Amino acid sequence: MEKIHNFINGVYCEPKNGLYIDNYEPATGKVYCLIPDSDEIDVQNAVNAAEKAFPIWSKMTIEQRSDILVKVSKGIESRMDEFVAAESKDNGKPVSLAAHVDIPRAVSNFYFFATSIIHFASESHAMEGEGINYTLRKPIGIVGCISPWNLPLYLFSWKIAPALAAGNCVIAKPSEVTPYTAYLLGKVCEEAGMPAGVLNIIHGLGNRVGDAIVKHPKIKAISFTGGTKTGEYIARTAAPMFKKLSLELGGKNPNIIFDDCDFDEMLSTTLRSSFANQGQICLCGSRIFVQKGIYEKFKTAFVDRVSNLKISFPSDPKAKMGALVSLPHLEKVQSYIALAQEEGGKILTGGKRVFLDAPHENGYFLEPTVIEGLDYNCRTNQEEIFGPVVTLTPFETEEEVLKMANSTEYGLSATIWTSDLRRAHRLAEEIQAGVVWINAWLVRDLRTPFGGVKSSGVGREGGLEALRFFTEAKNVFVKY
Ligand code: NAD
Repeated sequence: MEKIHNFINGVYCEPKNGLYIDNYEPATGKVYCLIPDSDEIDVQNAVNAAEKAFPIWSKMTIEQRSDILVKVSKGIESRMDEFVAAESKDNGKPVSLAAHVDIPRAVSNFYFFATSIIHFASESHAMEGEGINYTLRKPIGIVGCISPWNLPLYLFSWKIAPALAAGNCVIAKPSEVTPYTAYLLGKVCEEAGMPAGVLNIIHGLGNRVGDAIVKHPKIKAISFTGGTKTGEYIARTAAPMFKKLSLELGGKNPNIIFDDCDFDEMLSTTLRSSFANQGQICLCGSRIFVQKGIYEKFKTAFVDRVSNLKISFPSDPKAKMGALVSLPHLEKVQSYIALAQEEGGKILTGGKRVFLDAPHENGYFLEPTVIEGLDYNCRTNQEEIFGPVVTLTPFETEEEVLKMANSTEYGLSATIWTSDLRRAHRLAEEIQAGVVWINAWLVRDLRTPFGGVKSSGVGREGGLEALRFFTEAKNVFVKY
């Protein structure tokens, strides 16, 4: 069986303990490769390599670093088909999604930060009659990047690219559930001429190798995307060590639909914002609030469209829904469907596991599920499910929907559908979320700040925010 390897000090290597864990293909439920079960020894080796590389990488001119990162971007682009197939197989997502979203976005992430670092500037503040302050922004040193399974290379590169562009050396850990494209990235970096030790990619379990990264005293900043519970643990561990922390965590996003919206556009976008990537996007709008005037019309049209979504194996070009990422995750989502029924919810469509023909008879497929009749305060409407499950809740007034939208512990994103601009602005200001879309969903400009409030995270990624996070500011005063 194929084994994937760590990428440390510019070479692919086995974990020092020689241990491996199984990697499952979600569409078949079968183990298809083995991944290193790395531990703190591998992290130490990576830190040693990064320490040696840091003076070389951080002293390169910005243009030289930019040049290498542009080559990484081009390297992924030139192997598009290989990356797309690997992402789809490893994660269970339709190949069309990996081809249109995941891998192109990884290409853009490297290109965006490779070029934005050239324009990155710091401030100066003149004090009349006194002197002038100028701010230096230096790379932090060695930083840790830990990413989840839902958008594997997309989110992995979203952290690594700004960290490297700013001159840091990186110890990175992809999710053990979807390690494959991160494994392929090592080769691309090597071909791009990145010096050994600048980017080290270590595979393995969160509570073993992830924990060792978070605890290592020489890793000075942690950029983490994943679940809120894990984020809380990381914060508790890293904060007393005074590490810089960026935490992008869970969500339970409201999708608010007013009577006066553009119905057709809202309907097709809501289909995507509910079920893209099998509902496993932190920005999916899992709580759909519909104003009473169009509730019944929406319900009928939506349920009709949802029940016609094609569920198929990921390499089927016609697939609209692929497999969920793992058996434990499938079971978790199913347990929430059962909970919703216990809480009095009515399933309008979906709710059942799907068994495709061989060789996909044991794949983790689940029908897209729409539920109504639940209180906005019940667990189904408060806890993150992170799967193809949405709830419908009617509302009458703006005040009422705002209260329901803001009722969860989360605050990542929100979508508002209305043609009343004043109302849209009012709600956008009042809604507790780091990202708001009005009459749109998941439109991303990489220059904008990205992140959540409340239990959805601390800090912002994207554009200048990311470059600021991965640098340390030093103010210098010069007397006139
Ligand atoms: P997870 O928290 O289980 O794992 C995320 C990463 O952290 C993995 O690489 C994992 O190995 C690692 N990890 C686990 N325990 C660790 C520990 N003790 N120390 C260090 N690292 C550890 O999350 P997941 O199940 O992979 O991803 C799903 C979650 O991610 C959802 O809650 C989703 O909302 C969230 N998410 C958030 C965003 C965002 O931008 N806010 C984006 C995507 C996903």
